[in-house]
Amino acid sequence: MTKIPSRALDRAGATLWNWAAASSEVLLPVSCAVCEAPGATLCRGCRIMLRRSTVRPAEVPAPRGLLASNARVWAAGPYEHELASCLLSFKNGGRADLAPVLGTVLTGVLLRAAEDLAVSPAAVLWVPVPTSARARWKRWFDPVQEILSRTSLPHGTRVHAGLEHRHRSALGASSQKSLDVAHRARAIKGSMRAVGVRGAMCVVVDDVMTSGATAAEAVSVLRDAGAHVPGIVVLATVRAGCSPGADSTTTGSHVSEFPHSLN
Ligand SMILES: [Zn+2]
Repeated sequence: MTKIPSRALDRAGATLWNWAAASSEVLLPVSCAVCEAPGATLCRGCRIMLRRSTVRPAEVPAPRGLLASNARVWAAGPYEHELASCLLSFKNGGRADLAPVLGTVLTGVLLRAAEDLAVSPAAVLWVPVPTSARARWKRWFDPVQEILSRTSLPHGTRVHAGLEHRHRSALGASSQKSLDVAHRARAIKGSMRAVGVRGAMCVVVDDVMTSGATAAEAVSVLRDAGAHVPGIVVLATVRAGCSPGADSTTTGSHVSEFPHSLN
């Protein structure tokens, strides 16, 4: 039997997902992903609040799990309120119509990182953290790749799938949710491999940074493969002290759940 490459399956799944999402928009009335007001993907008020909270993407302090790597971190804002609601709705709530909104937010962070690094965005390989097999099985699409595909960056800017997940046991993949920072870092160690990055300047791209363990592993793997990795770009960072909670599809404006479900 011919083996279908996993990336071909990803593309097919993403196409099917986009088609289903577009079809559902035709069949169902659209409501605000944050407050559920009818009429638009984001109502005017929530759009303004999202813009206000993400208009100044900036370098932020690295979380504990990333300190040893000495990598810089840029984010659009903290993982709360409208930004968290939009991310949760996009990833877990079937709101594909939020991809352009999140793509616009991510564009700002990428441009800020390039500016701080004093390089053109086109001089960087933007490397998304790959979705785990478990998450792909659950969602049938890769949220970070999808959001990256909706950014508007200068001509020549390159997104490179330079990180791949190694095969992990079902136990190793599913037990990460309940682990503390140190155990989580150990569970992630060896989970990825780098492809085609030798000699390149790579900036890692992810949606949410929690403990920093995943980002630290991504940076380490890319550096071991010969890349120069000055930092990581994310849409949102979880404030220190936020306690872990359950998976959520909450779309209220005061989301505080720990985003394990986003990894
Ligand atoms: Zn709203």
